[in-house]
Order: sequence, then structure tokens, then C-alpha cells
Amino acid sequence: MPSASPAAADPVESVRAALLDWYDRHARSLPWRTPPGDAAPVDPYRVWLSEVMLQQTTTVHAAPYFAAFTRRWPTVADLAAAADDEVMSAWAGLGYYARARNMLKGARAVASGHAGVFPDTEAALLALPGVGPYTAAAVASIAFGRAANVVDGNVERVMARLFAVETPLPAARTQLRALAARFVSDHRPGDWAQALMDLGATVCRPRTPDCGVCPVAFACEGLASGEPARFPVRAPKAERPRRTGVAWVLRDAAGRVALVRRPAKGLLGGMLGLPTSDWTAGPDQPPPAAPAVADWIDAGTVEHVFTHFSLTLSVRVGRGEGGDWIWTEEAGALTSLPTVFAKALIASSRA
Ligand code: SF4
Repeated sequence: MPSASPAAADPVESVRAALLDWYDRHARSLPWRTPPGDAAPVDPYRVWLSEVMLQQTTTVHAAPYFAAFTRRWPTVADLAAAADDEVMSAWAGLGYYARARNMLKGARAVASGHAGVFPDTEAALLALPGVGPYTAAAVASIAFGRAANVVDGNVERVMARLFAVETPLPAARTQLRALAARFVSDHRPGDWAQALMDLGATVCRPRTPDCGVCPVAFACEGLASGEPARFPVRAPKAERPRRTGVAWVLRDAAGRVALVRRPAKGLLGGMLGLPTSDWTAGPDQPPPAAPAVADWIDAGTVEHVFTHFSLTLSVRVGRGEGGDWIWTEEAGALTSLPTVFAKALIASSRA
């Protein structure tokens, strides 16, 4: 008789046991994490902060920011009391700046509406500004031991492969969430969520799943199909539109750089920036007017990719004094500017 296929038996209990056992031995050591088996209470502020930072950001990139934030603002009440500008400057380089603004709103809601104590249910967490279903579930399970379905891109990928889901993303999302929900239990819910995250990040990687060391390979239909990396199936992507613009790097005699505070609403809202033109939809626009009179020198272009468009930014360099600028030392500007402007500032030295 041929042996049963991996799909024949319901894998929930065996997969849970195997993955939790693997997590006990291989859990990543992360600055915001309480290791498995550690009886120390988990600080929801640290879980929440890390989850906000980790949206669209790698653990390696987020770790120094997490350390800096928790050193400077050790509690949610400290963060809530911080000035917007200070927090936005400390966030510079992490990208997706709307997250930082929402994070501050969330911290202030906890400080003012909950006396500085994070609510301990998924529903109450979800009611906080800036907290979506993923973050609410992650904090509820990891910090408060609630049985919550924590589903991010990593978890979607693992589920799509475990069950060889042929429906393409994004249409498959509901199905993948329902599959993930089958594994949620009152037994070690936080460890389960983190074990799945670790599996997706270190073994069931997007392009190169390391199935040879995977603790749940025995149940994986994607592996059984012979092409595990084919999952999750994706609908063909529309190409990102390209936009163009100009950034002006104006330096004074002391070498300081002229910066502006961007409007609170919109892309990179509230952040420091270089003066720029509009970022128009195409390259065939009339040349924009410079923001000051100077002998502007062309320093080439820099490329930057935002979520919804790619930007080619021409960099022009000039000398000037006075004006209504935020004059900033170059080193300070480099650390406090969003990446797109830091790139332009670095490129300006070519002129
Ligand atoms: Fe992912 Fe391979 Fe493990 Fe399947 S066996 S879950 S594809 S790493």
C-alpha cells in the first residue's frame, strides 16, 4: 500500500507540536522578545513598539531604533509625552512615516484613555489609533497570552505552502487567514505566533525555503508538490508608476544645509526634508523654479522607491545665506532626514 500523502491526515496538532518544539530550541534572540520558557512578564509596550517598527522593516534594521526608542522613552507614558518633532527625528530612516504619527497617537491614547496601561484584549487593542488587526493580535497573544490569530506576510506564506493553496494573492487572504486560525489555541499562544514568524523569517523564506531543516516538512503539501517556492501564488503585478522631481541642496558659508519641515499631511508628512519641486507624474514637465537665487549646479540623480511609485530625483546644489530655512549641520541632517533626502544630500557632494 502506498503511504498516506501529507494531506491525508489533519496536520494541526502534529504541526503545532513540532513547531513549538523547534521554537523552544531555535527561537531568534530579539531585543524585544522574552525567550520561550522565561517566566518574566512580557511588557506590552515593547511588543507593541516592536510590531509597529517591524511593519515593512527587517528585524536587523529595526533593532537599533527599538533600542534607541526604549532607552529614550522607556514607557508608553514617556513616549506619549514626547514632542512630535523629537519622535519623528528619531524615526527618520525607518520609512513609512505615517506609522510614526499613528504610533504617537496610539501612545497618547494609552496614556490618556487607559492611564498608561495597555488594554489586554484584542478588541480593546484594535480600538487604539494606529493599531490594525495584525498588531492587535500580536500584542494580545505575545504580551497577554490571548488566543489570537496573528497573520502577516510570513504566516500567509507558510500557510500557502503547508496547504499548497492555488488561489493567488491577494484573493487568497481570507482563506489563508482561516487556515492559520485552525492552529490558534489557548496553549502557548504567544509562542505559537512567534514560532510561525520565526519559521517564515528563517526557514520558510520567500524565495528560498530551506525545507531540509523545516520542522513541519512532514506535513507540507507545497513541498510534496515539488515546487514549494511557487506558493503563495501571486496575481501579476501592475508596474509601479515613475515620477520625477528636483531636490535643491543649498549650503551656507558654514557648510550648513537648508532644510524645510514638510506639511503634516501627505507623503513624509511632518518630517524634515530638502526643498523640492512637486513630484510630477512624468519626465516631460517644464523645469521647476528654484527656491532661492543661486548658481545651481547639477549633481545628477538619485532613485528611490516608495510603496506606490518610483521616484527619480534630480539633485541641484548651490550656495546661499539667510532665508526662511531650517539651517542644519550636514551630519545632523544626514541622520534626521528620511532616506530619500539623505540619498540626495550624499549625491550633492558629487557636484
Ligand atoms: Fe516552508 Fe519548505 Fe517548511 Fe513547507 S517544508 S513549510 S515550504 S520550509
